Amino acid sequence: MNSSTTTSGLTFDVRLSAQRKTPQERAQLLDNPGFGTVFTDHMVAIDYTEGEGWYDARLEPYGPLTLDPATAALHYAQEIFEGLKAYRHPTGEAACFRPDANAARLNRSARRMAMPELPEELFLGAIETLLQHDSEWIPTQPNSSLYLRPFMFATDVGLGVNHPSRSYRFVLIASPSGPYFSGGIKPVTVWLSEDYTRAAPGGTGQAKFAGNYAASFVAQSQAVEQGCDQVVWLDAKEHRWVEEMGGMNLFFVFGSGDDARLLTPPLTGTLLPGITRDSLLSLGPELGFPTEESPISTEEWRRAARSGELTEVFACGTAAVITPVGHVKSKDGEFTIGDGGAGPVTMGLREELVALQYGTRPDTHGWVRIFD
Ligand SMILES: *Cc1c(COP(=O)(O)O)cnc(C)c1O
Repeated sequence: MNSSTTTSGLTFDVRLSAQRKTPQERAQLLDNPGFGTVFTDHMVAIDYTEGEGWYDARLEPYGPLTLDPATAALHYAQEIFEGLKAYRHPTGEAACFRPDANAARLNRSARRMAMPELPEELFLGAIETLLQHDSEWIPTQPNSSLYLRPFMFATDVGLGVNHPSRSYRFVLIASPSGPYFSGGIKPVTVWLSEDYTRAAPGGTGQAKFAGNYAASFVAQSQAVEQGCDQVVWLDAKEHRWVEEMGGMNLFFVFGSGDDARLLTPPLTGTLLPGITRDSLLSLGPELGFPTEESPISTEEWRRAARSGELTEVFACGTAAVITPVGHVKSKDGEFTIGDGGAGPVTMGLREELVALQYGTRPDTHGWVRIFD
């Protein structure tokens, strides 16, 4: 056993895999990795017990977790996660985009689910440790990156449900990934979900909580049955106010050219506060687009699309970055945004964001963190 000290002085035990892929095997896997199906040689894990805090931070071979069948997370779904990417910059360095924001959001999710917070140094130390050993897994093809998936789950054994678990595990795994939606930047068709809701006031919608996804699959299947790619979530009370698209936030572009302006629904407590969304709220005005957080109803969406005031709509999130929305379907019929293609404001914002993430534009915001 070895140990690895991160730049913050934290020590992670290093238990190297005896079955690391050879450079040839790795190259083959990196050739066309898809999304979220190939994993690196190692993972990081850290345990927590009430009273003791976090302990046993380690890098270990990637592999199955052995869990007692009565493990709390399997019964009562105390599980939260994050998603971010490591990019290979032209300098050769490995970098992440706003990982401190992911650390902060993990802890907001933890508080909502009565789980312990993970100190930011441990979150960043876990990424640093994994990248120290597995950074050769960062793909270098355009629009490819190493997707990082930190998650935390309840490990108490027992079926009692009167209190939250007293022990937890944090795990970080990494998956070399190509573009999230295969086939390039193709506009998606969305289904306005009036039968199901993702989140209600007082619920868990603003936490990156596994159960939110479990509850969403049936609506996503309904969208697919309607010939759509993605579901759009409306508010739980009136089924009228637009919230999100699948696992991404939405932006609406009104006007065009120098008069274009951006609108995104406000964080009412039922939306997931996306880091991509937050970044675009800064980048929009910098590129000359006034940007506001305001509610938008489905009637307004339809009306403004028909009148031509609404010129573009796109969804944003770490995995797929920015995806144009071309067509909208609902029980009341369907309509098209602009000419149904990817618009210039959408593509301009995408290019700017991607350039910052991949290190081809100077980082004037302090958003980029270099790991090696
Ligand atoms: C993760 C997520 C997003 C996007 O967040 P980013 O930080 O931009 O990746 C949006 N909506 C939901 C429901 C999510 O889980």
